[in-house]
Amino acid sequence: MRVVLLGPPGAGKGTQAQILAGALGVPAISTGDIFRANVSGGTPLGLEAKVFMDAGDLVPDAITVAMVKDRLAEADAAGGFLLDGFPRTIAQAEQLAVSLTELGHGLDRVLEFVVDEEELVARLSTRVVEVDGKQVQREDDKPETVRRRLEVYREQTAPLSGFYEAEGLLARVDAMGPVEEVTARAMAALGQPQTAGQPGAV
Ligand code: ADP
Repeated sequence: MRVVLLGPPGAGKGTQAQILAGALGVPAISTGDIFRANVSGGTPLGLEAKVFMDAGDLVPDAITVAMVKDRLAEADAAGGFLLDGFPRTIAQAEQLAVSLTELGHGLDRVLEFVVDEEELVARLSTRVVEVDGKQVQREDDKPETVRRRLEVYREQTAPLSGFYEAEGLLARVDAMGPVEEVTARAMAALGQPQTAGQPGAV
């Protein structure tokens, strides 16, 4: 299965991506995670991306698209994948379609996680992540950067909902409530019956 997860920062895409990918038996590919790994590794890509990330802005499409294209060409993505955080602009979506056509594939489904904005700000400002065994706040989870990320989402990413709806690929998933309930709704939207004890189910 080839799936894209769409939704604002704080909608729980990362958490659901891990669970759903486990259940579907495909890799979860998060552009945010790839960028963060490059930032902590001090690679040229990381140094370039960090400036944009810390400001809550998008990393330019040229950099991001090339990175995803390489990742999708890896062997583990041949049988399917779950993309988390990409595409984030219409241009990225168009490039993704081109890359997939070259690989002889297309997308099966786009899940849009829907949450209300007050909940998002609350989730992000109280979120802690583990870095090198320590619990820290992500640089871009500071309140002013969160506001910028939400603005960027509304302006650049939200239009993807209409883009994929027009292609008949979009399914909206209510992302409020407990993690396991959101997973169950997402699995249903993917046409996958979920049974207790299934790998990846919680
Ligand atoms: P969140 O979903 O919580 O906003 P991510 O981990 O997906 O966070 O992304 C963190 C940052 O990485 C983004 O704010 C952006 O700067 C950069 N980034 C991730 N994915 C993309 C993308 N597809 N295009 C451009 N920038 C991206």
